[in-house]
Amino acid sequence: MKIISKDPLNNKVNTIHPMTPELLKEVYSPEKFRQQGHDLIDLLANHLDATVHQKNDQVIKWNLPDDEKNFWIEFQEKGNIKDFFPEILKHTTHVHHPKYVGHQVCAPAPQAALAGLVSSFLNNGMAVYEMGMAPTAIERIVTDLLAKKLGFKEESRGILTSGGTLANLTALLAARKAKVAQDVWNEGSSKKLGVMVSAEAHYCVDRAARIMGLGTAGIIKVPVNSDFSIDTTLLEKYYKDAQNQGIDIFALVGSAPSTATGIYDDLTALSSFCIEKDIWFHVDGAHGGAAIFSEKYKHTVKGIDKADSVVIDGHKMMLMSAITTALIFREGQYSHTTFSQHADYLLQDSEEEDWYNLAKRTFECTKTMMSLQWFLLLKLYGEAVFDQNVTTLYDLGQAFGALIGKDPKLQLATTPMSNIVCFRFVEAGVSNEILDKINQKIRTELLEEGTFYIVQTKIRGVHFLRTTIMNPFTTPAALEELLTLIKQKGVALITA
Ligand SMILES: *Cc1c(COP(=O)(O)O)cnc(C)c1O
Repeated sequence: MKIISKDPLNNKVNTIHPMTPELLKEVYSPEKFRQQGHDLIDLLANHLDATVHQKNDQVIKWNLPDDEKNFWIEFQEKGNIKDFFPEILKHTTHVHHPKYVGHQVCAPAPQAALAGLVSSFLNNGMAVYEMGMAPTAIERIVTDLLAKKLGFKEESRGILTSGGTLANLTALLAARKAKVAQDVWNEGSSKKLGVMVSAEAHYCVDRAARIMGLGTAGIIKVPVNSDFSIDTTLLEKYYKDAQNQGIDIFALVGSAPSTATGIYDDLTALSSFCIEKDIWFHVDGAHGGAAIFSEKYKHTVKGIDKADSVVIDGHKMMLMSAITTALIFREGQYSHTTFSQHADYLLQDSEEEDWYNLAKRTFECTKTMMSLQWFLLLKLYGEAVFDQNVTTLYDLGQAFGALIGKDPKLQLATTPMSNIVCFRFVEAGVSNEILDKINQKIRTELLEEGTFYIVQTKIRGVHFLRTTIMNPFTTPAALEELLTLIKQKGVALITA
C-alpha cells in the first residue's frame, strides 16, 4: 500500500510507505508478548535458582573477544531465535552466583529487574513532568528519604541520574557554580580552577575535572596514608601549593570508599577543611554511601552529613539494576542552579518550587524511570533490606580479610574496611617482579576456569588480586575455597 500526499511546504510529492499490517501486528502482538514474557521469566527464574544454589558450577564461561564475536555472527546467520536469551545467559557473567566476587555491580533483587522492565516498556522519558508523572513524584520521595538518612534538612534536594560517573560530574558543576566568583557557565573561565581529590579517587573524578576544562594541573591529587585513605595532614600544603600556582580550588572530593581498596576517607576532617577554606565538599559514595543504612557500619561514613553533595549508586550496594544513581545536595537550591543560566535559584513569593521539572536539574534529557526500583524495594522490604545487605557484605569482607591476614602465603594490601578486599599470593625469597607475574597468571587461570570470578588491580606498582563481595549468598566456606585454590595455583606456578 502506498499513500501519495503533497508536502505543503515545498510542494513535492511524498510517498508514505506504511508498515505492513502483518508486520505491525506481529511487532505489537499482545499475545506474543505475553507468551515471550512468560517464557523469559521462566528462563530467568530457573537461572536464578541455578546460580544462587550453585546448581550450575560456573560463574563465567570465558571466551576470547574474537571467538565471542564469531559466535554471534554465526548465530545471526543460523541461530534459532528461541535460543537467543538462553545463549545470552551462557555468554555472560553470573552475578547471582555466590562465587562471583569481582566487580562492584550487585546481584540485583529480581523485583528491581521487573521495575526496569516496566520502565523499558512504558518508556516515559521524564524530560518533562507529564512524560513520567509517577516516576517523577516517586523520585522526589526517594531522594527526600535519602537526604533524611544522610542527616540533611528539609531544604535538601536530590536527583536520580545515569551512573556515579555522571553524578560526580554533575556535583562538580554545581560546586563550580556555587563557589567560583566568576560566572563560568556563561562566560567561560579566565582563571585557573582546581579540585582536590585523593590519589586513590575513582578515575571518573579525574575525567569530570578534565571535561570541565581544569586540565592536569587543575586536578590536585593528595597522597594517601599507608591504609590508602587521603592524608589529611597534607591538605593545607597541597592547597597552598595550588594557590601559589594561581589555581583557585573550589571543591574537595572524599571517597566513601575508594574503588580500588575500599577504604573510606576521614569525612569529618575533610569537611572541616572545606568549611575553613569555603570550598565545596563532595562525597563520592557511589560504592559505600549505602552504609548510611547499616547500623553496624554507618560509622564508616561519619561526617557525611556535612557534605554539600553525595553520590550513591543503587546498582552497587543496594540490590538494584544498573543504572540507578542518586545525587543528593544538602542545600537543594544548588541542584536547581547546576545547569541553569542563572547563578541563583530565587523563588518569588507567589511561585512554588518546580521540583517536578527534573530534566532542568539532570544531565540527561531522556532518562529511565529508575526511581521505580528504589521505591519498590523500599516498599517491599523497607530500609532493613539495605541495612542487612550492607552489613552482611561488609562482615564477609572483614572475615575474608582475617582469613588472608593469618596466612603466610597471602598478603593483604590493607586491612579491609568494606567488602572490597585486595591481596596477593606471596612466597618468601621470591622477587616482586616474579610475584606480579604469578598473581597475574593466577587471575587468568581463574577467569579461564570460571569457578570463581575475581578481578585485579595495581596498587603502588604491585599486582594485587581484587575481590568485591557483592552477593549475600557468598559464604565464608566459599571464600576459604577461593584462597585454597589461589595458593595451589601459586605454589604450582612457582615450582613450574
Ligand atoms: C563505581 C564507582 C564510580 C562510578 O560509578 P558508575 O555508576 O559505575 O558510573 C565512581 N566512584 C566510585 C567510588 C565508585 O566506586
